[in-house]
Amino acid sequence: MNTSPQHAPPEDGNDAMFTALNPLDEWNRELRRHAHPVDWVNPVPTGRYNLVVIGAGTAGLVTAAGAAGLGAKVALIEKHLTGGDCLNVGCVPSKALIRCARAAAEARRAHEFGVRIGGEVSVDFVSVMERMRRLRAQISSNDSVHRFKDMGIDVYLGDALFTGRDSIDVAGTRLQFSRAVIAAGARAAAPPIKGLAEAGYLTNETVFSLTELPRRLAVIGGGPIGCELSQAFARFGSEVTLIGTSAHILDREDPDAAARVEASLKRDGVTIRCGGKTAEVRRRGDERTIVVDCDGRRDEVTVDVILVGVGRTPNVDGLGLDAAGVKFDAHRGVEVDDRLRTSNPRIYAAGDICTKYKFTHTADAMARIVIQNALFFGRAKASALNLPWCTYTDPEIAHVGHYERDAKEAGIEIDTFEIELKDVDRAKLDGEDDGLLKVHVRKGTDKIVGATLVAAHAGEMISELTLAIQSGAGLGTLAKTIHPYPTQAEAFKRAGDAYSRTRLTPFVKALMIRFLAWRR
Ligand SMILES: Cc1cc2nc3c(=O)[nH]c(=O)nc-3n(C[C@H](O)[C@H](O)[C@H](O)COP(=O)(O)OP(=O)(O)OC[C@H]3O[C@@H](n4cnc5c(N)ncnc54)[C@H](O)[C@@H]3O)c2cc1C
Repeated sequence: MNTSPQHAPPEDGNDAMFTALNPLDEWNRELRRHAHPVDWVNPVPTGRYNLVVIGAGTAGLVTAAGAAGLGAKVALIEKHLTGGDCLNVGCVPSKALIRCARAAAEARRAHEFGVRIGGEVSVDFVSVMERMRRLRAQISSNDSVHRFKDMGIDVYLGDALFTGRDSIDVAGTRLQFSRAVIAAGARAAAPPIKGLAEAGYLTNETVFSLTELPRRLAVIGGGPIGCELSQAFARFGSEVTLIGTSAHILDREDPDAAARVEASLKRDGVTIRCGGKTAEVRRRGDERTIVVDCDGRRDEVTVDVILVGVGRTPNVDGLGLDAAGVKFDAHRGVEVDDRLRTSNPRIYAAGDICTKYKFTHTADAMARIVIQNALFFGRAKASALNLPWCTYTDPEIAHVGHYERDAKEAGIEIDTFEIELKDVDRAKLDGEDDGLLKVHVRKGTDKIVGATLVAAHAGEMISELTLAIQSGAGLGTLAKTIHPYPTQAEAFKRAGDAYSRTRLTPFVKALMIRFLAWRR
């Protein structure tokens, strides 16, 4: 029997893999108790598993819990902290910080609402981070090793390594499987910038362990993570410079929508240097100087801390994928077909390791597909998913379905209905009217093919459109749906009304005028 705990996090949390546990205060100790108990003893396998799951992030946890709930004999392997990126170094800590940043921003504009707050608003960063650690520790109980053990799942802590087409080793124990799921996630990509590694930088794996607010912060990467954290740190009081290679931030989003967010970041004091190439980083003492090449011009930005958020690299190394006969690509990750099966028909994959849509809800949705297809001859397809996503800046920017350019590429002709949030009463009353809604429908019909929304709570609101797309309800149905007044979701009804007006052709209008004249 294997009695020695494997990969036990060090008592002081000082191991690169367990940096999320720094500082090791009472909340991070609680997180550790849930996510990787020091005294954990791996079980002893008793025969072949229906399903072995590699990785206890969202994709792995949802697959394991779902399969065990349906009666499968399941093993779950995690080398680091259960809960994966989302809980430990992703969604949960970032959204906790963003909430505090919003409180600071609201306090600063309180005078607009007739509320007086004496003196300058300042942020107690130590309290912000402690609140984040407390909430993360509380939430971690959902993903705890003991909770999954209580579901009847054999939880193994250690590195999973395929040793063949139907076997995996973990911490000196061999597991045989009928089916396996690779849900090993992704990590921060390291950009090849001269001098960056030597100068030292933070990623999402280390930034949430800060105990002091950086006075000057450079964020390299203008994607969702870079934008969210730039704005949050600027609102905390850091002098933030956001450096991106594309001409604008959030370059995958609708350009008009992304421009609203860019303007908002600038209003919060973020200096945006986009469209340049980071040529080099130099360190002198505690200062780091970033040299940016921009249109032949060389700019230098000197800061105390650099945060890098330039994309995610799938965790394909060290899994023994070759031994398992699983094809993969270092950048795109594990190759899967539409049913999420890899090149080894016994092995499936889900989550960040095999999709470009690196979101928690995608990982969750893919896990549900895997359960059906791997265990029950299901035919569920990833391409059938209607995936929304949201970047939690202020205002938020959320999207579902096709962008205008995707529709063009796919040869779909569209009509677009645009609503400004300044024309929606509730947004105006809330002082949250800097936003817009764009809904794309198949030309001449009300069938929604995509939508982008910039609004304070766009992430909450986008589900109405996702549901519409999922259920085949068109813009005409949104027009008929009664929305409580005043709500920001009335923007959808307005888009529906705008569509309905297009139905009123001159011919139909002329007929109605004649009919009403006859009724007089
Ligand atoms: C800063 C940040 C903010 C984010 N915010 C959001 C958000 O607001 N909303 C959203 O939807 N998404 C967000 N995401 C993305 C989200 O965190 C990921 O999409 C999600 O965590 C993917 O889940 P996963 O299960 O695929 O992978 P992970 O969560 O990465 O889990 C994979 C697990 O596998 C383990 N593992 C890897 N290799 C092995 C091995 N050999 N043996 C055993 N275990 C192994 C890892 O330790 C890890 O625990 C954010 C990400 C970041 C970085």
